[in-house]
Amino acid sequence: MISFLDLKKINQRYEVTFQEKLKTVMDKGWYVLGEEVETFERSFADYCGSKYCVGVANGLDAITLSFLGYIETGVLQKGDEIIVPANTYIASILGIIHAGLVPVLVEPLISTYNIDPAKIEEKISEKTKGILIVHLYGQLADMDSIMELGYKYDLLIVEDAAQGHGLPFKGSHTRTFSFYPGKNLGALGDGGAVVTNDEKLAKVLQRLRNYGSDIKYYNESIGFNSRLDELQTAFLNVKLADLNTDNEKRRSIAKRYITEIRNEKIVLPEWDFSQNHVFHLFVIRSKNREELQEYLTQNGIQTLIHYPVPPHKQKALPEWNNLSFPITEQIHAEVLSLPMSPVLTGEEVDFVIETLNRY
Ligand SMILES: *Cc1c(COP(=O)(O)O)cnc(C)c1O
Repeated sequence: MISFLDLKKINQRYEVTFQEKLKTVMDKGWYVLGEEVETFERSFADYCGSKYCVGVANGLDAITLSFLGYIETGVLQKGDEIIVPANTYIASILGIIHAGLVPVLVEPLISTYNIDPAKIEEKISEKTKGILIVHLYGQLADMDSIMELGYKYDLLIVEDAAQGHGLPFKGSHTRTFSFYPGKNLGALGDGGAVVTNDEKLAKVLQRLRNYGSDIKYYNESIGFNSRLDELQTAFLNVKLADLNTDNEKRRSIAKRYITEIRNEKIVLPEWDFSQNHVFHLFVIRSKNREELQEYLTQNGIQTLIHYPVPPHKQKALPEWNNLSFPITEQIHAEVLSLPMSPVLTGEEVDFVIETLNRY
């Protein structure tokens, strides 16, 4: 069986180093917001080409707290509208809602599955104060067009980069990350971070994640407990060093899939072989998705669907259930994610390609 994502194999590469890291943390006896978090925040800010990184508990909190931070610094107000792709994982939308802001959905391009910049402008109202960009499946959204709209309408641009560790930076205000185990940079549990050049925002986030407190037992705002875990961060410090080579491996597998899969019943991702994709997922489309998935399962190839139900059709958001986003709905009905990871072997890739070409 070729697994969709062999997390065990990914992390077994680090078994010895992780044991040493555990010992280091135990020898220090400091478990929350210690040197590992400090080191990671510096390294990850550098890696992202940004001044500040604030570790938080997970990717959803990274989105929610960023927006709450902008409310606290007066950039946003409760009730402001934030444009967000209709075609995203629900966390992007929940982060906006949890911060007391109003998500406004925009259709994606069928070619990239990312937000269609040409459809953003018609959704901009007086209440629109920002855009939350999502680099779905690891592909950079059309940031040049989006940044231009941002300047034109004076909008806050936040990137939900939970699927895009290592993508080029195009000058947004803030990027949010998740270190959930399955992400391109994943811990052995939950984790997240906000990366920004905005010193004021970074300071507010350091408070918000830690009970609204700068000095222990003195609380300046109504904060949260959303700290990036010290031990998880110790593991992230090890894995960060390999992120670029891991992304490069994902790209080389994607290149093989794209050039060698030949089947009229399958739509492959559009990618120009540049650095603008980190292939968090390799997603194909088929009109007979269920049949294709069953065929691959029969042949010992595990696949997943990202995602089966779009946010506006979820029971959690009943006020949106009657809205129509045909491109988003088509994507959700047709997509299938093939095995993709830095530990997939050449033989496994051969087999996936051959099997799909026989379908
Ligand atoms: C994974 C993910 C998140 C949320 O991250 P968690 O760490 O699971 O909270 C947010 N947005 C997108 C696009 C994601 O893929």
